[in-house]
Parts: sequence; C-alpha cells; structure tokens
Amino acid sequence: MRGILYIILGIFVTTILMPMLLIYSCDISTPTTDEIIIDGKSANIRVYIKETQEIKEIELEEYVKGVVSSEMPAAFDFEALKAQAIAARTKALYQKQQYGDAGKPNHPGAEVCNDVHCQVFRDIQQLEDIKGANWMRDYWPKIEEAVEETRGMVATYQGQLIDPLYHSTSGGRTENSEDVFTAMAPYLRSVDSPYESASNHLEDSLVITTNQFISKIQSRYKDSGLSTNNIVDSLEILERSEGGRVTKMKVGNTVVSGRDIRDVLGLKSADFKIVISGNQMTFITKGYGHGVGMSQYGADGMAKQGYTYDQILKHYYQGIEIEKFKR
Ligand SMILES: [Zn+2]
Repeated sequence: MRGILYIILGIFVTTILMPMLLIYSCDISTPTTDEIIIDGKSANIRVYIKETQEIKEIELEEYVKGVVSSEMPAAFDFEALKAQAIAARTKALYQKQQYGDAGKPNHPGAEVCNDVHCQVFRDIQQLEDIKGANWMRDYWPKIEEAVEETRGMVATYQGQLIDPLYHSTSGGRTENSEDVFTAMAPYLRSVDSPYESASNHLEDSLVITTNQFISKIQSRYKDSGLSTNNIVDSLEILERSEGGRVTKMKVGNTVVSGRDIRDVLGLKSADFKIVISGNQMTFITKGYGHGVGMSQYGADGMAKQGYTYDQILKHYYQGIEIEKFKR
C-alpha cells in the first residue's frame, strides 16, 4: 500500500509539481525587460533583399533564426548553433551601430543584406520552400531553441560589439584579420582549429589547363608576361600567413595576393599549393572561406568534444565577453 502511495506521490512530483516549478522559475529568469530596445522600439534589422531589391524590417530574433538556418547546417551540435546565433546577432547589431540610419554603403538604408556579402538570411516561407516540410518539422524547432536560449546575447571586446567574421572551414588554423583583410582586430587572431575532420572542405582540388590559367591571369593582370613557355619558372609562392594562406605570390612579372588568385580561379580558399604536370595545373586547397574568426566546422567539432557555446566563441574570438546587449 505504502509503495503505491510513493508511486502516486512520485507521479505527482514529476508530472505536476516539477513542471510548475520550472515554469515559475522560467518566468523569473526571463523578464520582458530582456528585450533589446533601440530608440524606444524593440530592435528591428533592416534587411536588403537582393532578389526583389526591397528593404524589409525584421525583428532581431526572427532575423537571427533566418540567418542561423541559412549559414549553418541544422544537424550541427546545439552548442555550435548557439555560438552561430550569437555571431549572427552580433554582426547585425555591429553593422547597425557602425552604419546608423544611412545603412551599409553597398545597400543604403539597410544594415545588412540577405546575401553572403553580409550573412545569408531566409525567412520562414523561403526556408520551407528550400529545405522542405521534413526539415521544418525536424530542425526548425532546434534552430528556434538555439536562438531563444541565447536571446539578446552578443560578443563584445572591451565593451564594444565585435565584427564576428566567420567561415566554413579553416583547414586547421584560422587567420589574423590583417593577413586577409586590411584592418587589424585584436580579437581576430590566428588560432588552432583542431576539430574540423567532419568537414568536406579540409582539402579540395581544382584542375585547369595551363592555357585556362594564363587567360584568367591575363584578363586581370595584362602585364604579367605569363606564357606556356615560361609558366613553370614564372610561378612562385613568396609568403604565407600564420594561418597558412598565401599572402604573396609571384605570377610572371607581377606579385599578387593569394586572395586575388582565389578570386580569379574561384578556389575554396587562399591556402593552396600548385602542382603542374604537362599542360595541367592542380590547385590543392585547404579549408573553405577567408579563414578569419570562427570556423563553423571547427565550432561543431569543439561542441562535439564537449565545449560550450561561450567556450567556442571565446576560442575563435580572443579576449571577448558574452553579454546581454545594452545600449
Ligand atoms: Zn550586404
């Protein structure tokens, strides 16, 4: 008899009392004052929609959900999705702060666009069209939860929002910002990214003929003097960055950056080596993307090793804090 009473008591505690307490404690921990208020309104992000050339105002957290869904595979570890949510939110608010009412010069009136130029954003209708009903059922709730759990949280360096650059796969080590772009940011330092083995882009290769290479180079660098006769002696990698990307390369009579070569050829990354064999050239690349800031595959790998979202962010963005956004 006493056993049955304990069972009934147990059922009461687990099905009624504990959920009640949980709801009660949630109410305390998420008061409505957590909302990000800018100029008396909750924060909206002005998004330039490239396809229709219009600007849409989207509530910040809804915007973040549409970015996380588009920029990171939803099958990634939950902690990686949370790290991505904070990076996406920080980027939008950083650009909003940076460019003010005028918007970013490439798309006046909007702080972000929905394209890789800023960060990819798709609304819920587009996601359903692109990813399908099964994805919506299986993964959309996970995205929503990752964003909700980090609601209003941003990454700061010495109290200022950071520009949280990120990329797919570093190839083993990320880059110092000034080695890839012009500006030096103290939080965008070259760090090891050891857990990227799940990425398809750790190593890639592009094969083209020497003639194709020469014509692509000639179209951008008319005075390179490159020809089929001198190509083997005319190419030399002169300098690499700390993260392994080519910073200077001799191409005939000119010196170009690895980033330019990446651009001209459409390589996955500027960390490459070249193998010439007969009239065929193979560019073997490491990683995918510019290599600065958070590696998304690296973040997923860290999460699978047990690191939390804040540990992941603090690894890829050195010296930062994670805090609730305040103006
Ligand atoms: Zn943009």
